[in-house]
Amino acid sequence: MPQPHPTQDLCIPFTQWRALVCAADAQAAQAAQAAQAAAPSRPKAPTPTAPLPPGIVLDADGKPCKVCNSWKTWAKIGKKKEAGTAAGTAAGTAATADTTANAPSAPASATASARPLDCPPDVESLGRATWTFLHTTAAYYPSHASPSQQSSMRGLLRGVADFYPCSYCREDFAARSAAVPPDVEGREALSRWLCERHNEVNQRLGKEAFDCAKVMERWKDGPADGRCD
Ligand SMILES: Cc1cc2nc3c(=O)[nH]c(=O)nc-3n(C[C@H](O)[C@H](O)[C@H](O)COP(=O)(O)OP(=O)(O)OC[C@H]3O[C@@H](n4cnc5c(N)ncnc54)[C@H](O)[C@@H]3O)c2cc1C
Repeated sequence: MPQPHPTQDLCIPFTQWRALVCAADAQAAQAAQAAQAAAPSRPKAPTPTAPLPPGIVLDADGKPCKVCNSWKTWAKIGKKKEAGTAAGTAAGTAATADTTANAPSAPASATASARPLDCPPDVESLGRATWTFLHTTAAYYPSHASPSQQSSMRGLLRGVADFYPCSYCREDFAARSAAVPPDVEGREALSRWLCERHNEVNQRLGKEAFDCAKVMERWKDGPADGRCD
């Protein structure tokens, strides 16, 4: 007597199979819809912000870098934001101009001279402060530094190359320090080395070179006319 095929009870007509599959699909879709409705809403993608003024340097996180830009350049962002806000309201032209001039949160007049002294540094004020520290430290460095002092000074300069907050400044300084390693033997050599690196930045920025023969006068002894005494 012929035996039934082992899978015979699984065999169903095609139309019945299709109905079953379609029902399962519909059920799954319904469940997915319900789950989506119950789930907490995802954070929305950030609304695209107004385009930044040209020349703004961004940080690694893609945001404008305060310490990499000059105050003047930075202030343009504030002005742009204000303009955007004012344009978004139904305020008239006169009111817009007034808001822009008096907004307390914005750099009221975007000039370097109007910048309050207790503001975070921009690329220029940080640069001046750092050069002041570095040149003065070099001017008071021992005439003949011990091996441990030399190692400590190398560490300090490596720290500038690693941690200086303006990213492109530190990358440039790191590259230059790698190309011409710091001469930390003593005061004269270190002061000269720093003066030359500073002059390279001056050149990059289109500024006049500083006369390195005058580095001690500038950073330690003061001018011969005594006006700084
Ligand atoms: C490590 C480092 C890297 C930097 N890299 C950049 C950069 O890539 N791009 C950028 O825009 N800014 C950079 N800066 C900032 C820039 O060098 C200036 O500090 C800034 O532009 C302000 O310039 P300043 O004209 O006021 O005088 P500064 O250049 O800050 O100089 C301050 C004072 O130092 C004296 N001085 C000038 N040159 C020398 C010298 N060669 N030796 C000794 N004394 C001198 C002068 O009396 C001057 O008034 C950097 C700063 C540092 C510390």
